[in-house]
Amino acid sequence: MRRNSLTVGKSTPIDRFYGIGEKRAEAFHKLGIYDATDLVYHFPRAYEPRGNVKTTAEVEDGEVCSLVMTVATEPKNALIRKGMTLTKFTALDDEGMCAVIFFNQPYVKDMAHKGAVFRFFGKVKRDGFSVSMTSPVMEPVTPMRPLRALVPVYPLTAGISQKLIGGTVRDALDAIASETDGLAEFLPETLRMKYGLPGITDALRMIHLPRTLDDTALAIRRLAFDELYLFALAMMLSRDGEERRTDAPFDHYSNEEFLAAQPFSMTGAQLRAISAIERDLTGGGVMNRLVVGDVGSGKTAVGAYAVWLTLKNGRQAAWMAPTEILARQHYEELSAFFGRMGFRTELLVGSMRASEKRRALDRLALGVSHFVIGTHALIEESVTFDELALAVIDEQHRFGTAQRRRLVDKARDVHQLSMSATPIPRTLAMVMYCDTDVSLIDEMPPGRQKVDTFLVTESYRARLNAFIRKNVEAGGQVYIVCPAVEEEESFESESGDKLCSDDLIPLSGEREEKTKKKAATVFARELAERVFPDLRVSFVHGKLAGKEKDRIMTSFAAGEIDILVSTTVIEVGVNVPRATLMIVENAEQFGLSALHQLRGRVGRGAQKSYCVLVSDSRVPRSRERMKILCETNDGFRIAEKDLEMRGPGDFLEQLHGKTRQSGDFDLGVASLERDVKLLYTAFDEAKATLVADPTLSLEEHAGLRSELRRKNEKKQS
Ligand code: ADP
Ligand code: MG
Repeated sequence: MRRNSLTVGKSTPIDRFYGIGEKRAEAFHKLGIYDATDLVYHFPRAYEPRGNVKTTAEVEDGEVCSLVMTVATEPKNALIRKGMTLTKFTALDDEGMCAVIFFNQPYVKDMAHKGAVFRFFGKVKRDGFSVSMTSPVMEPVTPMRPLRALVPVYPLTAGISQKLIGGTVRDALDAIASETDGLAEFLPETLRMKYGLPGITDALRMIHLPRTLDDTALAIRRLAFDELYLFALAMMLSRDGEERRTDAPFDHYSNEEFLAAQPFSMTGAQLRAISAIERDLTGGGVMNRLVVGDVGSGKTAVGAYAVWLTLKNGRQAAWMAPTEILARQHYEELSAFFGRMGFRTELLVGSMRASEKRRALDRLALGVSHFVIGTHALIEESVTFDELALAVIDEQHRFGTAQRRRLVDKARDVHQLSMSATPIPRTLAMVMYCDTDVSLIDEMPPGRQKVDTFLVTESYRARLNAFIRKNVEAGGQVYIVCPAVEEEESFESESGDKLCSDDLIPLSGEREEKTKKKAATVFARELAERVFPDLRVSFVHGKLAGKEKDRIMTSFAAGEIDILVSTTVIEVGVNVPRATLMIVENAEQFGLSALHQLRGRVGRGAQKSYCVLVSDSRVPRSRERMKILCETNDGFRIAEKDLEMRGPGDFLEQLHGKTRQSGDFDLGVASLERDVKLLYTAFDEAKATLVADPTLSLEEHAGLRSELRRKNEKKQS
């Protein structure tokens, strides 16, 4: 038995565990693990299906499974090359034999003796009738100790093996179950009963040591509920404290001048957003509003309104965009717009000459200029303002919380307006904010054409190429997006063997789809050299330097490129009105919202535009997902579906990136829980809890309080 002689409990530091010295402790720290509680909250990412026991007769070549066999010959060690030993023996089950081979594990010889029975897990090789396994995991079969059917696979870091972390987590599970210093239940019992959730120590045990996938599902449900409920509590608690006041609220100005200066009449959704902003800015609070709307829904005009009211009040505004090209596009439009009203706008981007920059900075510091549009260059120390009162963060998800803050912190009580083109489900915005701080632009400007969307298989390739040519000949431009090809993720199993994710059961119990991904580089070359040698084809990918990417994008926007092949780096928001066709290769690899975002790149001009999703996926779920895109152009409906199908993790992260004090809660497990009702339930319950006990000061909520504190400290460290 592995046991520490010391008494252990929930806060036992990592270096007090069996076999963990100073060095290993440091490696654990890298994973964010400092004590027993951290250990049990370090969840597996998948499970090895060791309970998948086959016989030597039925096993197929390349199958990852277990064979239960008796050692039939004494293992022999042989030195095959300098410093390399090979250990070999034969094992039998009822139906046949299997050669078992190990490299550089000479100690196997002392472990496996003739007559002993083991469960061998790993990849089996079959060549006709001959079956072999190389470096399998060997576990002695004894009547005393049943073997686990599912063995967790953990995220690792250098210096920690699966075996070490697995054993340490098991010790930690014992530690947190300690009578004297165990992990206390923090979820009110009424809630656990109401929703049939297991206790916390049981749930943690089940996620690390499940007997079946049902155990895992139940554990995930409890842990996901925890995450969502605590997240909701933290958010609601911080909201009340967050109502920041300013002693210099804006004066009212009639909207008329602003609206009359617009080249179009605003949509209802835009007008609603504008009045909400007006209320925020003149109401005496410090605004922190998120404007969410599909690409092309007209967020710029909404942001411009906030800037306008700021400038009318004699204050300054800053507008931060994620890329230089976007900043320049906005600068061209907005500096002219505000110029006509007598306001002066500056541009501030990295590529400007130092002298140019210097002059712009001086004008901002002195208040000669009223408004600045720029990139990350805006958050540099050297940028100061005379009277900054508004920060607009465009494409807010592209900035970290810290970056946004550095802009807002350049003056006191700076109002913040964040804009996002990733629609969040309406229902989610409602539960999270009761609609107060989020404006949904859920209405498109009139006359916007629908982008017709089709789902096709690889067999359409020839027709697709003809369609591309037709579009280009008609004066259009084409985007072709390929998923980034990453290295195949592999996991080190306990034996030190590498298994790939296909061989494992993911935590969600659902296998991810594996299809052959197009290697973008090869594909782009093929198109350029063979299919369309007469057209102008360019390729952008993640490894290109930012400047080079920008250069190609600019040249595409200028119409100097016909076909742009890219991995998903094409900029959100870049306007290329002549782009009429978007093709997404291996479309099954993208989330719905991502696909919708990509589609938003086309259909911005007068020309009829199309989106073609190419996928050979046969997984019904995937096809169903992609079909939704063919049916609707409404980003909010798509987001709603995405939430249903993929779980809330991504959305919550996106939303709470906006609130500054709720803390970056880790929503690892919650994103696996696809039951959206659980999300709403958790939020409703959090509301109910706070109605009954607004500051969580009742004795029965002491556990909740300390769990919230723990999560918050975790985040700060
Ligand atoms: P996004 O929400 O993606 O930032 P933009 O603000 O860039 O969208 O607007 C996209 C296009 O729609 C721009 O050319 C803009 O001038 C135009 N637009 C915005 N609002 C309206 C409106 N109410 N009526 C007509 N066109 C509009
Ligand atoms: Mg925009």
